[in-house]
Amino acid sequence: MRIDIITAVPELLESPLNHSIVKRARDKQLVEIQLHNLRDYSTNRHRRVDDYAFGFGAGMVLRIEEIDRVITSLRAQRPYDEVIYTSPDGQQFDQQTANRLSLMQNIIILCGHYKGIDHRVREHLITREISIGDYVLTGGELPAAIITDAVVRLLPGAIGDEQSALSDSFQDKLLAPPVYTRPADYKGLKVPDILLSGHQARIEEWLHEQSLERTRRLRPDLLEDE
Ligand code: SAM
Repeated sequence: MRIDIITAVPELLESPLNHSIVKRARDKQLVEIQLHNLRDYSTNRHRRVDDYAFGFGAGMVLRIEEIDRVITSLRAQRPYDEVIYTSPDGQQFDQQTANRLSLMQNIIILCGHYKGIDHRVREHLITREISIGDYVLTGGELPAAIITDAVVRLLPGAIGDEQSALSDSFQDKLLAPPVYTRPADYKGLKVPDILLSGHQARIEEWLHEQSLERTRRLRPDLLEDE
């Protein structure tokens, strides 16, 4: 899989994309992630990529020219399954969307900044808008890192134990069961006996019951369309 991220502030993405599972997946060539600095596509001598918003008092807007240049250049090199714009008013990101994106070959993620991007980009150059929640961040870089992380950890081989990703919350519309590690008794706080019993079938049953109980209690909405 290949993920191209277009941003005016690539520095914000360096750490999230260069550690832990995402780094390992890149090292194993399960995913190629390329950052494209919008400023490299500016013809302005100050490398500006923003301008005043027509009809608005305050706030700058990312211009269409640089965004069009980079998307057109990428599209000329390979077909893209999706060109995603991260936006607070986009479709809410969830595990199903991450699952679907993880099956794609090539995607572009465009990060907004300032007051956003020229609306003509949203109307003509992108194919999908994704929000990571009902709040407003400074830029689309953290949302892009979140989408990338959620997608990359699903790629076969990215996580040592593939079953681990499948037992995470929201797969099968259930929350994950509780997890424990050593010591089995910490200052009198004990790990449930069943997990130490060695009866794998009964452990699986208990874990499933825990998942159901936690989902019913914490996120009953997930069970509603069952
Ligand atoms: N004026 C915009 C609005 O009210 O919808 C908010 C612009 S925000 C300050 C700048 C950029 O951050 C957006 O263009 C978008 O790319 C990104 N962004 C902010 N919050 C986001 C969220 N919840 N989900 C996805 N992207 C977000």
